Amino acid sequence: MKITEVLRQDRLLLSFEVFPPKTDTAFASVKNATEEMARLRPSFMSVTYGAGGGTSRYTLDIARNIKERYGVPTLAHLTCVSSSKETVHARIREIIDAGIENVMALRGDLTPELEASDRSKWDYRHAAELVRELKESGADLCIGGACYPEIHPESPNQKEDIRYLKEKVEAGCEFLTTQMFFDNNLLYNFLYKIREAGVTVPVIPGVMPITNANQVARAVKLSGSFMPVRFKSLVDKFGSSPAAMMQAGIAYATDQIIDLYANGIKNVHVYSMNKPEVAAAIRRNLSDIVG
Ligand code: FAD
Repeated sequence: MKITEVLRQDRLLLSFEVFPPKTDTAFASVKNATEEMARLRPSFMSVTYGAGGGTSRYTLDIARNIKERYGVPTLAHLTCVSSSKETVHARIREIIDAGIENVMALRGDLTPELEASDRSKWDYRHAAELVRELKESGADLCIGGACYPEIHPESPNQKEDIRYLKEKVEAGCEFLTTQMFFDNNLLYNFLYKIREAGVTVPVIPGVMPITNANQVARAVKLSGSFMPVRFKSLVDKFGSSPAAMMQAGIAYATDQIIDLYANGIKNVHVYSMNKPEVAAAIRRNLSDIVG
């Protein structure tokens, strides 16, 4: 099922994100974790694409397994900036052959090596170019893209970020998933601004349950997310106790999700990070809310 069709359902939905293993030896345990999550009947599951494409085979193996064994729609991520056109075309072919109907078209992060290389030799500079190629491939794929309620870290300002986001949508993105955020007001402000700018496709907010203190620094580095005082004091108080931090982080994410639903959002995407126990706890907390 295509994500656009999933989003047309008239009920509140929850989806999960997983990431592929880096090695063959880790494959079985990651596959088990993703299957446990699939059994929670999410509206869809997204499978990320390792930077540089080293784990691309696993992305598709996991996406296909979840779809075929559990009937859960899957969204395969694909990045382009560190790849040649030839590689990207081969990946698109593999996605089609695997029967995956949804692709998240991403640029990918700029590694220091890429930053230092000659940009004129890059085959891709922005995700919109990948979106256009996916469209031109003629494949019947539903294409998603990323967006940033707190601005993409490389953007000089939000106006410019939204201008390029609009270009990406016009190139063929049918829905957008947001970077994580810890203050819902940032999302509501962002939605207002993009709608005003004429970006009308569905936006799926991404919520990351922070379940250990080390994750906080990583999350901030990755996304540049603003940490509300309420969230910081929770980490200060419970960060040194793993069980307490896990419970508090899940409660914070649940609270965020309920507020999003209460304010008209239909599908929230949980950055569940291959942790079925976290996905299950959130699902349990929303048992009478999520359809
Ligand atoms: P783009 O849309 O290309 O935007 C990147 C920057 O370029 C922005 O600042 C934008 O404003 C600017 N820009 C866009 N077009 C132009 C233009 N024409 N001229 C000048 N500037 C322009 N990374 C992975 O490696 N694997 C994953 O699976 C993965 N999944 C992700 C899922 C989500 C929901 C999100 C939010 C991020 C994900 N990422 C993933 C990280 C992502 O690759 C990085 O955030 C990356 O830095 C930007 O990717 P993008 O697709 O948003 O890029």
